[in-house]
Amino acid sequence: MGQVQGQIKSKDVPLSIFDNVLAQIDAAASLLKIDPALVEIMKQPRRSVIVNLPIQMDNGTFRVFTGYRVQHSIVRGPAKGGIRFHPKVSLDEVQALASWMTWKCAVVNIPFGGAKGGITCDPKKMSKGELERLTRRYTADLLDIFGPDSDVPAPDVNTNEQTMAWIMDTYSMHVRHTEAAVVTGKPFVVGGSRGRREATGRGVMLAVREAYKALGRDLKQATAGVVGFGNVGSVAAELLHALGVKIVAVTDVMGGVMNTSGLDIPRLIAHTAATGSVVGFPGTTPVTNDELVALDVEILVPAALENLITAENAGDVKAKLIAEGANGPTTPEADAILDKKGVFIIPDILCNAGGVTVSYFEWVQNRIGYYWTEDEVNRRLEIAMVAAFNDVHAMAQQYQVNMRTAAFMLGLKRVIDVIMLRGVYA
Ligand code: NAD
Repeated sequence: MGQVQGQIKSKDVPLSIFDNVLAQIDAAASLLKIDPALVEIMKQPRRSVIVNLPIQMDNGTFRVFTGYRVQHSIVRGPAKGGIRFHPKVSLDEVQALASWMTWKCAVVNIPFGGAKGGITCDPKKMSKGELERLTRRYTADLLDIFGPDSDVPAPDVNTNEQTMAWIMDTYSMHVRHTEAAVVTGKPFVVGGSRGRREATGRGVMLAVREAYKALGRDLKQATAGVVGFGNVGSVAAELLHALGVKIVAVTDVMGGVMNTSGLDIPRLIAHTAATGSVVGFPGTTPVTNDELVALDVEILVPAALENLITAENAGDVKAKLIAEGANGPTTPEADAILDKKGVFIIPDILCNAGGVTVSYFEWVQNRIGYYWTEDEVNRRLEIAMVAAFNDVHAMAQQYQVNMRTAAFMLGLKRVIDVIMLRGVYA
């Protein structure tokens, strides 16, 4: 985490991402013939909190930053979801991301609800001290919201293990004991889980592997392009490369590199660690995002930010399979175009659910006070991802719908089933 800058682009970026989510819920609910009254309950977040945070900057002046925490649902367990630091963070975006977390946790069948948080700020222009004060003030203002049984944050765009350690420490100081389970994605020595850093990329690899099995194709013959080479993209690329996939192009925020004979991914990771970007990797030619999206590869892995594939470039896509490592990389208009072309999309709420799955494992380990080996974490992650893929795929076949609709249907069904048993306290 920590490097994403700006939304990618697009003329057809919807005015409201949250409205898109509502449309996705409606589509899934009507296929499942769910009582509209219950659907209405699941549309709006249960709670949205806005805090204004006065922070002393390094030069002695004060600035006020606006922060959000949205709990979409606690029907299946504590609200769970990351915290994003970005200049474009808005209530609309946080509400949409919180709702997606509810469906994601249900798809991968972990006992959490959905939440998301964010602060409208530009972390690239802030010092470490300013970011620490902002994080601690945000946590202190939301002390009654967060808690291991109520709402458990995690990293998202531009927040990282250090941010989580500050949240854990601030919360712990106020409750007068060390409470590791209040947040996940912590450094290992602060109570983090082995395998958490790689979990989302590993989950992407597992989802692609299962899709290839289901489609009866051979991964060893496959070629791929990856957009975004941070936490998710680099690990997904490394693990797919290890399975024999030829990765021919990779981009990041600075540019992109291509070699049709295949990139040496471990060496590209070392190059990126040394130089800060994939750009300039020896033996490659430059490539842009648009060129990569239109490349003649079998697999496309968007692993940067929202709205990479839009109505403008969806028609150019030649890939047979898209594995959504990022959240919301495909606009609804692009989705319809890709669907017509028969592209098999592994939707974000399934494809990148490995991260929240290992966050759940971290929370479990914090609560039992015993830490699993990396092999144990990876073994359990594989079980969860394979089951989730198969459940979504079975739903898609049963209702003759695409994987995105099937994933929403599965998530919605699992939440509604619990509401039916718990009843609505009114
Ligand atoms: P990161 O900051 O580690 O990496 C992001 C990468 O995207 C960087 O390589 C950056 O250079 C690149 N990028 C940014 N803008 C770009 C652009 N315009 N064109 C091409 N590349 C660009 O972030 P991350 O943790 O890898 O997250 C990536 C996506 O995955 C986000 O959508 C995030 O919400 C989602 N996600 C992350 C996790 C997780 O556990 N890290 C879990 C679920 C979903």
